[in-house]
Parts: sequence; C-alpha cells; structure tokens
Amino acid sequence: MTDRTAAHPAAELGVIGGSGLYALLDDVTEVSVQTPYGQPSDSVFLGEVAGRRVAFLPRHGRGHSLPPHRINYRANLWALRSLGVRQVLGPCAVGGLRREFGPGTLVVPDQLVDRTAARVQTFYDGLPLPDGSLPEVVHVSMADPYCPEGRAAALAAARDHAWEPVDGGTLVVIEGPRFSTRAESRWFTANGWSVVGMTGHPEAVLARELAICYTSLALVTDLDAGVGTGEGVTHAEVLKEFARNVDRLRTVLFKALESLPATRDCVCSHALDGVATGLPPA
Ligand SMILES: [Zn+2]
Repeated sequence: MTDRTAAHPAAELGVIGGSGLYALLDDVTEVSVQTPYGQPSDSVFLGEVAGRRVAFLPRHGRGHSLPPHRINYRANLWALRSLGVRQVLGPCAVGGLRREFGPGTLVVPDQLVDRTAARVQTFYDGLPLPDGSLPEVVHVSMADPYCPEGRAAALAAARDHAWEPVDGGTLVVIEGPRFSTRAESRWFTANGWSVVGMTGHPEAVLARELAICYTSLALVTDLDAGVGTGEGVTHAEVLKEFARNVDRLRTVLFKALESLPATRDCVCSHALDGVATGLPPA
C-alpha cells in the first residue's frame, strides 16, 4: 500500500460518483479502507489524472447496490480523508425543477436544501467517539456549502468542453428512494430551487465538517414530476440519460481535477481553524 503519511498522501483529490469512472484512471490501485464509522460504499480506487493523485469512490457501490438512504456517507468521507484527500468533486444525477433545465443540463449549484429525513448527517453528534472518548460540540458554517475554487474549476472545465453549465442554483435533496410527488415537485419549483437529487446531502455537509472542499456537479437526467408532462420519472430513464452523458461528464471531471488549486485558502479549508474537534486523526 502507498505511504499514507501527511507528507506522502495516497491521494490529494477525490471523486465520489457513479460506476464506470475508475476504469479510466491510469494504473488504478484498489484499496479497502476501514473507518471508525463503518464500511464505505466500496473499495477506493487510486489513480492519476494529469499528474494529480486521485481517489475514486463509487457512491452506490459497484453494481449500484446501495440506495441513497443506505449509503454510509460518514464512512465515505472519512475513507477519502484518511487517504489524504482534501478536495472532492461529487457528480450526481438530478431532476430538473425548471423547464429550461432539461435532460443533459449540467448544473453547478451554489446552494443546498436538505429535505432528507433519516440520515446520519454529522460527525459531531454528541455521541461517544469510536475510541470511547466524548466529542466536542462543533458547529461549522454552511452558509455557502460548496467550494468556490472547485465550482470555478468545474464551470471552466465544462465551458472548455463546449458544455455551457448552469452557474449556481439550489439543489434540494430528498430522502428517496422514491421520486417526488407532483405536489412536492411543484413546491420545490415555487421555492425557486433548481434541481432535486437524493445524495447531495449529507455528502456536502460532512465534507465541510472535515474541512474538505466539496463541489457538486449535478447532471439533469429528467424533468421532475411537477415540471414534466409524462407519467413521472423512472429509474430506467435516469440511467439511460446518465449513460448518454457519461463520456462528456468524465472529460469535464478530469479537466476540473487537473485545474483544482494545489494549495487551498478557501472557506472550506478554514472551516475548522481554531476548533478542537476531538475527532480521531485520519
Ligand atoms: Zn474549498
């Protein structure tokens, strides 16, 4: 296994995304990572993109076996951090909440709304830590949930690839695994929200709690029930549309990874400055 010390981390950048991406990383190394929070979704796949060491974690596990509400988000973020990852890109499939955000639209949101109901969404839950010690009370700022540097890199990468992205907007995350009712969907739209997904929370929040930069790249695979005119969303439609866009999404991801800053001075990097978290060292 690669040296995982701070001076020689196994990876500096991470991608949490769908299956099919890790196969394209050069000289991929599969590593199984244990965490104090249980099992991540799968092994982590280590490789290089333009000389940057990248760790890829399939969010739903290989074979897409984990539904959104069963993903161990804490273990996933912890596993990446323990490998040295400090900046994460999180591509995900979403439904469009406006007619103009049809299938194939790439949204790089700047805001997040949590409509989940039953997920462990913090490392600072007041419960004894895995080593038995008592945790500190920690409140991180979430006013701007996404990394400004990561968003800029993602937007520039998409434009370079002639895929004009939507710069900003609100991702509302529902518990799932069912899709929205028409009434729920219309309500989301009426609130001015842009896209609806099932995995963006608590992924972004947990990243911030570890001072990891997190950027969401939301690929619209369908119009949500309140906007669309058909029978509503099906999982088959989502997978089909995602597959149709996966090549250009991969290209954009790689380009964005390449241009992420080598040193950080963003709001995310300072999220825990001066805070005694009590968390075990990663
Ligand atoms: Zn950042």
